[in-house]
Amino acid sequence: MTYHPVTPEVLSELRAIVGERQVLADAERIEAYGHDETSASEYGHLPEVVVLPTETAQVAEIVRLANRERIPITPRGAGSGLSGGAIPVFGGILLSLEKMNRLVELDLDNMTVTVEAGMVTNDLAHLVQERDLFFAGYPMSVETCFIGGNIAHNAGGGKAIKYGVTGRYVLGLELVTPTGDVVWLGGKLAKNVSGYDLKSLVIGSEGTLGIVTQAIIKLIAQPKAASDLLVLFRTPREAIDLVPIIMAAGVVPTSIEFMDRLSFQTACAYLNETLPLADAGAFLLIEIDGAGPEAVERDLFAVGDLCEQHGALEVYVAEDRNTIERMWTIRRNVPEAFKVASPIQSTEDIVVPIARIPDVLPELERLSERWGIRIPCFGHAGDGNLHAKLVKDPAMDTETWLRHKDACLRELYQVTHDLGGKISGEHGIGLKRKKYLPAVTDPVEIELMRAIKRAWDPHGIMNPGKIFDLDTAPGASGTGVGPDAARPPVAPG
Ligand SMILES: Cc1cc2nc3c(=O)[nH]c(=O)nc-3n(C[C@H](O)[C@H](O)[C@H](O)COP(=O)(O)OP(=O)(O)OC[C@H]3O[C@@H](n4cnc5c(N)ncnc54)[C@H](O)[C@@H]3O)c2cc1C
Repeated sequence: MTYHPVTPEVLSELRAIVGERQVLADAERIEAYGHDETSASEYGHLPEVVVLPTETAQVAEIVRLANRERIPITPRGAGSGLSGGAIPVFGGILLSLEKMNRLVELDLDNMTVTVEAGMVTNDLAHLVQERDLFFAGYPMSVETCFIGGNIAHNAGGGKAIKYGVTGRYVLGLELVTPTGDVVWLGGKLAKNVSGYDLKSLVIGSEGTLGIVTQAIIKLIAQPKAASDLLVLFRTPREAIDLVPIIMAAGVVPTSIEFMDRLSFQTACAYLNETLPLADAGAFLLIEIDGAGPEAVERDLFAVGDLCEQHGALEVYVAEDRNTIERMWTIRRNVPEAFKVASPIQSTEDIVVPIARIPDVLPELERLSERWGIRIPCFGHAGDGNLHAKLVKDPAMDTETWLRHKDACLRELYQVTHDLGGKISGEHGIGLKRKKYLPAVTDPVEIELMRAIKRAWDPHGIMNPGKIFDLDTAPGASGTGVGPDAARPPVAPG
């Protein structure tokens, strides 16, 4: 693909579409849009211009302009992504959805809510909670991530065991295609087999097939009661071994979150929290919700008994809202706490079949020893989805870290593949995992993805450089503007 730069004429056209104030071109203001939650020094790249549209018609006009001028365009939500998906690797136009955050319609008869893609997830959750309704999407980044970003990554999170991931609740979406057409896919329907399921193709496509501008979200009744267990184990292995046993026991928890000692301790230190650690080497945070306090209590005790039978050191029950929130605050803050304690790191997101999850930890220990990298681990154990965090030792020089990290990741992904798993359960491939995908994916599958991309985006302008390379010929990564030819990478943040 050959891309063209953003010229002064293009800038004038963008200003005419969205207004002077919604076009950012000065270095200081675009800096924040050059990275997401991955390492800025490794993956960061500045856009040439940032645009902040306020309505779908403007998004469509901007995309038509980009398609006409062959300028790459990258959609961006809150920038909380962990795969570099929102990084404009080819420069060009960065289109942020932050100004499109309105409630469009709350339809109580159909139990749906229609929102713009820039609405913060927690704002949506609170909005419907007031009506005793429930939005079940719950990434740990709920306080920042946008609904559009969640759709683009088909985000999972803490409640996915029982309620599933984001896509299950997206009944319809409004999409601006890479050629600038506006189309609604799906609708307020419980079922729909009227042709290809294009809505589901867009969900999880990481902004490479168009820009989601609105979504119709399915709501369910608010669970009437919920309670949590914090269970302490001597070793991570004991905690993880129990996960498939709980899952097979006939109770479906809302969440089973795993934290090893280092993850728990780091989050507690970051929060000045003083929960008991005892001799624990690992923790499970287990949530049960249901139709009423009695049903929840029954299931909670059944799971608690199971934990005790399988060697738990302590089982704490959190019955009141405050204690539940305290425990979840610890779990939600593990990533941020590590970021502060050890800023150079790589958060992984492997997923394996639930019965193979006990096989993951010994492999992580082996890899940690082999490559001299600490690998604390936490995550959504009940989904088979663990976040192994590769943390750079301060004594290791940068060149060795990058080499060892790369080798360690290759091995980790191969092990995951051999266990029947995939290299990302929820964070996506984006920029960060693109080079590793072919080794663990059938080439036929990648070629089908390429064919879809070519059909939807003939000029390859929509979020280029993500998931796979469009051009397969050697050296065909683009003439004209490209990752190396465009602006220099963003300085480390
Ligand atoms: C502390 C922390 C905890 C996290 N916990 C979880 C978790 O539990 N579960 C989970 O799944 N993820 C988690 N994440 C990752 C991240 O928050 C999710 O991937 C989230 O869905 C990204 O949303 P965003 O709005 O920040 O998107 P961004 O990071 O801005 O973008 C992500 C991708 O979506 C595309 N995109 C964004 N908006 C649109 C749009 N409107 N149309 C088309 N494409 C678009 C971008 O191009 C990019 O490819 C966590 C991240 C952090 C930092």
